[in-house]
Amino acid sequence: MSCVFCGGKLISKKVTFIYEDDDQFFVIRNVPAEVCTQCGERTYSPEITDEIMKFAKQRFQPKKLIEVPVFDYGQRVTAV
Ligand SMILES: [Zn+2]
Repeated sequence: MSCVFCGGKLISKKVTFIYEDDDQFFVIRNVPAEVCTQCGERTYSPEITDEIMKFAKQRFQPKKLIEVPVFDYGQRVTAV
């Protein structure tokens, strides 16, 4: 199997999936994915995508909570 974007080689890897939808934001660790060795594009199987969507819809108790700083590129530091 090769990358649909660049034709590079895909390797099976556990990745950290970051889900973002408006103000809903969470991270799933150790998600099995096919990762392109050339461009880094990740491909998830339909089964994995289904599982990821379950995390978004059902409210599982997360393993732990981390604080995530959110920056906006448009913001500027005015005081130095
Ligand atoms: Zn690629």
